[in-house]
Amino acid sequence: MNVTKSFGSNQVLKGIDMDVHKGEVVCFLGPSGSGKTTFLRCINQLETIDGGRIWVDGDLMGYADKGGRLHRLHDKEIARQRRDIGMVFQRFNLFPHMTVLENIVEAPCQVKGESKAEVTERAHTLLKRVGLADKPAAYPAQLSGGQQQRVAIARALAMRPKLMLFDEPTSALDPELVGEVLTVMRELANEGMTMIVVTHEMGFARDVADRVVFMDGGVVVEQGPPKRVINDPQHERTRSFLRRMR
Ligand code: ADP
Repeated sequence: MNVTKSFGSNQVLKGIDMDVHKGEVVCFLGPSGSGKTTFLRCINQLETIDGGRIWVDGDLMGYADKGGRLHRLHDKEIARQRRDIGMVFQRFNLFPHMTVLENIVEAPCQVKGESKAEVTERAHTLLKRVGLADKPAAYPAQLSGGQQQRVAIARALAMRPKLMLFDEPTSALDPELVGEVLTVMRELANEGMTMIVVTHEMGFARDVADRVVFMDGGVVVEQGPPKRVINDPQHERTRSFLRRMR
């Protein structure tokens, strides 16, 4: 892939090479400013990459490859690709004027043109799954941050994504609400969802990730099974970051 991305003269991603397999859970760790969020946003095409290629399940994201030359896809095609990727942000980003149920059914109905009855049924199943079966009629402001984040996860899942991206999904939450969101993510991982998670939750990374990637300064410093990267890091930069996290 060797993905590069600059903002002006600031090269934020300096050749990230990453292959995520179906059903794999990959946790990204690293200091603030190392490019983790930018990388997630590039996968979901909220940013355009300057160089390299990103594939999601065989789809070359944002580009068509014509005999080794890349051609930028039309916006419509990009929107189609993005439908297969769910993203959960640090801030929950629910529509404040819509109920929980309306938040969840909006995209599958509007973007995918699915029938309202079918999507509503799915939304109730998803709400049950994230422990909020009793909240379809609530508005986001009536929910705690942890509940809102679980609705955000249900909303992303309603699109039946192939891949879920999580960008520090618990870092805006009060400490006592972190566990309920991590539990939902853990269950999702156990069910075989492909997930890329930027997190500072070491316990989650250690228990749930198949692979931990440590990024610093726009490069992958090291990656591997959590036991190796977290318990026995090979690089001084990883060691010093992990010392600071304790
Ligand atoms: P991390 O997620 O690891 O904290 P980010 O990807 O958020 O890192 O940021 C990496 C670098 O890119 C930072 O130096 C940040 O200031 C810069 N950056 C991120 N987004 C933008 C943007 N939209 N415009 C300019 N600079 C940006």
